[in-house]
Amino acid sequence: MAAETTVRILPCGAMTTDITWLLLAPGRAMRTRQTKDQPAEWIDCPTHCVLVDTPDGRMLWDTSCPRDWEQRWAPTGLQDFFPYDHVSEEEYLDSRLRQLDLSPGDLDYVVFSHLHFDHAGNAQLFKDTKARLVCSDKEKEFAFGFDGPFTGAHLKADYEGLDFETVSGDAEFLPGVTLLEAPGHTPGTMSMQVELADSGTMIFTSDAIYMGDSYGPPATPAAIVNDLGAWYSSVEKIRGIAEKTDATVVFGHDAAQLRSMRLAPQGYYT
Ligand SMILES: [Zn+2]
Repeated sequence: MAAETTVRILPCGAMTTDITWLLLAPGRAMRTRQTKDQPAEWIDCPTHCVLVDTPDGRMLWDTSCPRDWEQRWAPTGLQDFFPYDHVSEEEYLDSRLRQLDLSPGDLDYVVFSHLHFDHAGNAQLFKDTKARLVCSDKEKEFAFGFDGPFTGAHLKADYEGLDFETVSGDAEFLPGVTLLEAPGHTPGTMSMQVELADSGTMIFTSDAIYMGDSYGPPATPAAIVNDLGAWYSSVEKIRGIAEKTDATVVFGHDAAQLRSMRLAPQGYYT
């Protein structure tokens, strides 16, 4: 067990996509009459997981996209909107764990910010391991509650047959690790706040806030939002906590920010 809490950001390559999905911003996603003939920008939509070692256990935050994304996502059609095609062999989650001398059986907890296909894509790696799988009660209710194999970016093949424990509200999950309710993107999206001895507070927003341009201020929403009013409230909730704690806010899918962070396997935060 770790003597002190350590955070490792595992970069897992990128999907590529039309920026309009991520940022409904005039001038970026929406064209003017002068630029109406230009195609919308396609950007890297990077995906990462976070490994948190605490004195009370080792947890993984999110599981990124699966190696078989093209087949698995085919029923949804989303493989053509979000191809996971900027990824190299060493960037897949299982490779990242191996680089840290870990296998899925070494995790005590796998906590899911939400169960979208680019966050729960490797959940099945942890089937029949000792890892306890955790998501919010509202996310579980939604993800298992609809009819058919998928809705939006929730794909039951990712998480069916797995047992999820749930948390509710804002909860200190491990010492210094608090799960924050941040709905809007999905009904049960969570962010994670970690208190570190040297680095202070870090908040991993996941998809509650896609990128710095989404955070603003002003907050700028995205094309995939389950509840827009709740989304705005969650952004301002996170902003309030971040200002009070002088936190480093790490966004869910921000390519430029991710490049600026200390990244695993070499980099880490204490
Ligand atoms: Zn999402």
